[in-house]
Amino acid sequence: MVECYKIVITGIVQGVGFRPFIFRIAKRSGVKGYVKNMGGSEVEVLIQGDKQNIGKFMESLFKDVPEVAKIDKIITEETECGDWKDFFILPSGTYVKEPSQIPPDFAVCEDCMREVLNPQDRRYRYPFNSCVKCGPRFSMMYTIPYDRENTSMRDFPLCKECEREYHNPEDERRFDAQGISCPICGPRLFLSTIEGEIIDGDPIKTTAKLISEGYIIAVKGIGGFHIVVDPLNDDVVLKLRKRKNRPQQPFAVMAQSLEIIENYAIVNEKEKELLTSPQRPIVLLKKREDGESLSKYVSPGLDREGFFLFYTPLHYLLLEEFPPHLFIATSGNKHGFPMCVDEQCVKEKLKDVVDYVLYHNRKIVNRVDDSMIRVSNGRPLLLRRSRGYAPLWIQLKNKALHHDILALGAELQNAGAVAFKDKVILTPYIGDTDEYSTLIDLENYVLKFVTMYSLKPKVVVVDKNPAYQSVYLGEKLAEKFSAKVVKVQHHVAHILSVAAENGIESGVGIAIDGIGYGDDGNGWGGEVIKFEGVKYERKHHLKYVPYVGGDVNALRPRRMLAMFLSTFMDWNEAGKIAGIKEEEARLLEKITKKPGLMTSSTGRFLDAVSAFLNVCDQRTYEGEPAIKLEASARGGKLLDLDIKVVGEEIDTPSVFKWLIENRGRYRINDIAYTVQYRLGEALIKTALKYGDKVIVSGGAAVNEYILKGMMENSEGAEIILPRKVPPNDGGIALGQAYYYALINDTS
Ligand SMILES: [Zn+2]
Ligand SMILES: [Zn+2]
Repeated sequence: MVECYKIVITGIVQGVGFRPFIFRIAKRSGVKGYVKNMGGSEVEVLIQGDKQNIGKFMESLFKDVPEVAKIDKIITEETECGDWKDFFILPSGTYVKEPSQIPPDFAVCEDCMREVLNPQDRRYRYPFNSCVKCGPRFSMMYTIPYDRENTSMRDFPLCKECEREYHNPEDERRFDAQGISCPICGPRLFLSTIEGEIIDGDPIKTTAKLISEGYIIAVKGIGGFHIVVDPLNDDVVLKLRKRKNRPQQPFAVMAQSLEIIENYAIVNEKEKELLTSPQRPIVLLKKREDGESLSKYVSPGLDREGFFLFYTPLHYLLLEEFPPHLFIATSGNKHGFPMCVDEQCVKEKLKDVVDYVLYHNRKIVNRVDDSMIRVSNGRPLLLRRSRGYAPLWIQLKNKALHHDILALGAELQNAGAVAFKDKVILTPYIGDTDEYSTLIDLENYVLKFVTMYSLKPKVVVVDKNPAYQSVYLGEKLAEKFSAKVVKVQHHVAHILSVAAENGIESGVGIAIDGIGYGDDGNGWGGEVIKFEGVKYERKHHLKYVPYVGGDVNALRPRRMLAMFLSTFMDWNEAGKIAGIKEEEARLLEKITKKPGLMTSSTGRFLDAVSAFLNVCDQRTYEGEPAIKLEASARGGKLLDLDIKVVGEEIDTPSVFKWLIENRGRYRINDIAYTVQYRLGEALIKTALKYGDKVIVSGGAAVNEYILKGMMENSEGAEIILPRKVPPNDGGIALGQAYYYALINDTS
């Protein structure tokens, strides 16, 4: 008996070869009917066939769906049969129920690489090869929907051969593929000196040779420029550090294959999956102790190395020509500034950094940084959500907004968001918005999304910290849209970002973080917070210590150490043990006599421990002392240490008493391991009093040993970490948007 079903599929189903996929599985399973785009994020399918054929079709629909497509929802209903003689791809419908989702950028697929490496193929050695399953998307989009004329590929009209592929529904990979091109019709590569003098010859071969000779090259990729150098040559890496004014912060390394990465780092199954995914993020991997090593200046003092795989044919061809088959590929920017996306920026901003520029003539419309991720205790945690992930929307499971809103995040490693109905769209990683040009970038992205999605923002959500530039921007945008400003406490937003992903409306959360503006005006950052909707109560926090002088303490861990010590010894001695100057200790003593700013920051506690153990006493990049403390715990054993909870306060200063008593008795890695583990243990034990599901978020919520201390002492309770957004401030905007959703403002 012939049956008919109408299937509506929602998700990333446009611009990823979904209709040809449906066409093929329909043909294969023998059903008749049609498939058509519904203009938004929907595809409508009608299938007509007998039970067996329909069963086959449905099985393939679930099993063989293209890797880059993402299905959010499938609604199937039985319908009246027409008289379909075959299966058709119908012209797009105009009935828009859901707005169109912006597809992210994907790494080149295996099929495309096969063509690039096949001397018989017309796309042999073509650096910009792509198909319906792969290649740039968001980075070249002016607006939605994802059609060629809305992208910077509109500057490259298809040649006859490409046109034929584009219109042929039997062509699995290029039918209806918006971004395709070939050596005849596509973008071109150029190599020039930084002064702009074009170098003749094969740009790829010449660039590879220049890298091996120790030159520093800017290479234009998908979402911006990388700075590329040889990672095995100490002198070259040091030269780059000097020119970039970046003394310690690690550089990411791009490799040609997984096998090459495995020579240098330990890669587990989860990490393998991430490295080879279409998102191709930088993955922070444990360095091998027994294998080969890069120059020690690539990631000084760390036990992890940031690796990623090539994600365009251009990268692959370059790596192929450069025998170690891996190179440093770090963002093409000056410290604190946004990455360059055009040649002009490179020539102006990077003229003292790079020697040569390898570029192409496809315009980068949207800056997209490389994403970064690490796996801690089996949990993948995003550190930077950008290429491949942004700007996919995050769907609220349980709430919908009654108004369109903006959320501007915090300040460092920031990302903003727009939100409407049940969708929150985070911008790609923006950077530190305390720098003006980065703040402008945040504004531009948010406004771009407002236009793309035709939003009318009624509310702008910002942090409570009056010193944040993003708050100032929020007030400005609120005025522009006649919207109201809503302020959310920093750590509440951290916890709610995780609650949002999971549809949780009440519970308990731990925020372990740097510094965020607290409701009492102090610097919070080690908090156990119980919440019910938007009502919340700060149940426990790390013991307050003086925080005289504010941010200077973050730069100088020894000063922070002195303040911890001063809570239980006189300033003279505290200053001596901490290793700060006598005058400074005397000055601090004087100031701390009067009531002043206090902090419960986890980051500052870890900094102080790092300084005590002489692991790191100067911060040259965000989180450095804490990151190096974590690195120093590798191979450590757990010692006896009990961090007590006294009333509301978790007694972190007592850790320094223990450190002084046990000086010289244990190995550094045992001590570092123990302090971090025991902190996690103390936090989870206090949180368990308020529920058997505990949310954990904040910048320190990636720390392997703190998380281990939590997981091994959770007494069966579920520990919920963020998956779709970073636990650091890059995820704050989601929490802010969710806060407003929880208010349930229908006015
Ligand atoms: Zn492809
Ligand atoms: Zn062509």
